[in-house]
Amino acid sequence: MIRISRPIARWFVQARYPSGTNLLPILMYHRVLSQPDPLQPDVPHVALLAEQFRTLAGAFNVLPLHEAAAALQSGGLPPGAACITFDDGYRDNHDLALPLLREFRLPATVFVATGYLNGGRMFNDSVVETVRRLDTGEIDLSRVGLGKRLVSDIASRRVLIADLTKAVKYLDPEERDRFCEELCHKAGSRLPVDLMMDDSQVKAMSDAGIDIGGHTVQHPILARVEDAVAWREIETNRDEITSLTGRPPLCFAYPNGKPNIDYSSSHARMVHKAGFLAAVSTAVGVASQDADPFQLPRFMPRERSAAQFVARMLRMSAHNRRQVAD
Ligand SMILES: [Zn+2]
Repeated sequence: MIRISRPIARWFVQARYPSGTNLLPILMYHRVLSQPDPLQPDVPHVALLAEQFRTLAGAFNVLPLHEAAAALQSGGLPPGAACITFDDGYRDNHDLALPLLREFRLPATVFVATGYLNGGRMFNDSVVETVRRLDTGEIDLSRVGLGKRLVSDIASRRVLIADLTKAVKYLDPEERDRFCEELCHKAGSRLPVDLMMDDSQVKAMSDAGIDIGGHTVQHPILARVEDAVAWREIETNRDEITSLTGRPPLCFAYPNGKPNIDYSSSHARMVHKAGFLAAVSTAVGVASQDADPFQLPRFMPRERSAAQFVARMLRMSAHNRRQVAD
């Protein structure tokens, strides 16, 4: 890991994000792994996350998302402002990220899809964990339009994960899960049921000062469901988080999150109406003062060293064009 000195990093950051620039980088994480996983090279492991958090604590002013969103609008962001977010509600957020957030005294928002808590599994994990468990050999994937494929080394499994994820992403959720279960069953294996937090872990994160944000119940792509279903997903998730933590969630993240593809401006209005103060998409960029507070862009830091991480944070300041759904 290449280290850079904290004062130098801070100087660079504050030169690019001075007070009054009103640029807000919002980082998006999902899982954190205890060890690097060759099948998921883009998912940070805990040592890498620690390095990024150390840099954030030393060179940035990390703020709670709702406060930063309000300050962005009013023109009152401090220099080097940034936010940390985690999507979906993974158990490793509690086990591995929370101790680091506490160590570095960093605020964060964890967006929880409440329907997956207590033993659920997101479809992307079903795909990864299925492919991990497949025996070496040929496999027939004609049912999802991928024909016959050869599964062998890590590289072939990584390609298969990418292709399968793409092929099943927009399938009916039940069909998607059934397909993965059957595939895994054929390989003589069972899929893990301990990837997501349970209720007590969500409560523990909230009690530790982490904001728990809304992310719907079943994680549907909102643009693909009826308006009444979308509203119920947003409202029920808000109520479930409120009863779980004792605090209404302040911020929301759209499942999948691509403007116009996964959600529209009518969903942003629903989120506003449900009482949230701000919402984030997965449009890649840094929010600027003209950003819609209910469609703030984010980005995923994939850099392997602290120096590369700072360089990416600096580079992203140029990606501040307004990106919103119609
Ligand atoms: Zn998600």
